[in-house]
Amino acid sequence: MTSLVGSLRTRSLVARPTTLEQCREALAFCRQHNMTICARGAGRGYGDLALNDGQALLDMSGMNRILSFDRDTARIKVEAGIRLIDIYREVHHLLMTLPASPTESHSSVAGAICANVNGKDAWHHGSFAHQVVSLTLLLASGETLEIDRSHEFFNAVVGGIGLLGVIVDATLQLRPIPSPYVEINRIPTPEVDALLEKMSQIEKSHDAAVVWVDAYARGRKIGRSVIHAAKYINRKQSESRRREILQAGYERLDEHRRFGLALHEKFGPILSLMLHAQRPMMDSFNRLYFAMCQLVYAIGRSSNTELFLRFGFEASFTVPPAHLVCGPRGYTVQLTFPRSEARDAIIELIKICQSSPSPPVTTILRAHKPDDCLISFSEDGYSLNFEFHPKKRYEAASREAVDRLIDATIKRGGKIHLAKDQVLRPEQFYRVYPRYQELLKIKRRLDPEGLFTSDLARRVGIDPSLDNPST
Ligand SMILES: Cc1cc2nc3c(=O)[nH]c(=O)nc-3n(C[C@H](O)[C@H](O)[C@H](O)COP(=O)(O)OP(=O)(O)OC[C@H]3O[C@@H](n4cnc5c(N)ncnc54)[C@H](O)[C@@H]3O)c2cc1C
Repeated sequence: MTSLVGSLRTRSLVARPTTLEQCREALAFCRQHNMTICARGAGRGYGDLALNDGQALLDMSGMNRILSFDRDTARIKVEAGIRLIDIYREVHHLLMTLPASPTESHSSVAGAICANVNGKDAWHHGSFAHQVVSLTLLLASGETLEIDRSHEFFNAVVGGIGLLGVIVDATLQLRPIPSPYVEINRIPTPEVDALLEKMSQIEKSHDAAVVWVDAYARGRKIGRSVIHAAKYINRKQSESRRREILQAGYERLDEHRRFGLALHEKFGPILSLMLHAQRPMMDSFNRLYFAMCQLVYAIGRSSNTELFLRFGFEASFTVPPAHLVCGPRGYTVQLTFPRSEARDAIIELIKICQSSPSPPVTTILRAHKPDDCLISFSEDGYSLNFEFHPKKRYEAASREAVDRLIDATIKRGGKIHLAKDQVLRPEQFYRVYPRYQELLKIKRRLDPEGLFTSDLARRVGIDPSLDNPST
């Protein structure tokens, strides 16, 4: 089977279990045939973390049932392959939400756990790790292990990019909300200091935020941005009315998705050409967008009320899937840096982008909060997410600029999000995640023969057979 993630393609033998027993059989088959295996959720990562070239994949998308839901405790137990948007469909009209859901709401629960993803509410509710109550892990031996937050392996499995076993199910803690509606404020900030000052206020007053950054603005305007901030509002509606409205909301998102995919199918090459043609005009486009936002803000028309669904997830429905739009050379990189370094890091990273022949097409900033996972990219600080679509002739130069972005981030004590990485090298990985040694120790106990691996694990040098790979 050909597997497509981001712009990468590999061939693997694929098993599609619908029961725990079938998962066990797939692992036994791989052990017998001396193959490695990589569990895969929805395959929505940008990089190679759910690929296993020439080996086996365990496609968990068929294990997608809700096992139990306790309205009083707001806890839901689900099979590993269920998509986050399907949990929203089940609980949102009951005035509950699942924080830390990434823009890509089609991600599976296990994929979200293993990549420890974050949402637009990351500074508030933290990463996905904070939402997990417990999980069941199928080990290489075929036994299962119940792991709750106090278990010694919890912080290794969450964020552990699937290297310790197969997550079979998980119990998640949902949070109450006053209504499914948010008030959205779009706030332009002319440069980096204004951006950071405004963000520190927004972090106190709002529930979620995402920042469009103009990576083309230079000099005194560097860090010019528009903050999109949302806070839940009270709105009295019966449960059945909410259900109706949300149902219409999901249908609209689905329609957008179908339209985006059809557009890509019919006009894919033209869209790619338009993206290339638009690039020299990005600077002017960004200026125009910022000026419009400033004008709308000045005349007091920059706020409106929407369903949270649209604020949180619409981007993953309206544009055709990122891996289709990015084209064969497109990729993203998301870098966090500590709050104390934020100003200098933003300036330095944007300047590196500006020195590249292929600056990013989009640049997004988010605020985060730390967690205790061994491999976690969350910290008390901010992240910048850059999306690059380099032309063929600029591919090498673009990669070289990304290397500089990574090195600058590491020097400032920052991290690189593995769900959006396809370039990190072992020496960089060891510096970003020194606690991977602890992960390796646990892996040697749970998976001594190295049954579970992935292209990413091989690329960044996660190899349990090496005693001290960082030296
Ligand atoms: C348009 C777009 C927007 C995105 N926005 C965000 C965002 O806002 N924030 C963010 O953090 N990320 C974001 N992402 C990244 C995406 O949310 C993550 O990569 C997420 O992990 C994808 O989930 P998945 O189910 O597709 O996982 P996969 O890509 O299938 O797998 C991810 C990892 O989990 C492991 N895994 C999956 N299932 C299991 C299992 N049952 N047992 C053990 N291991 C398993 C895999 O081996 C792999 O290491 C975005 C991606 C796209 C394409």
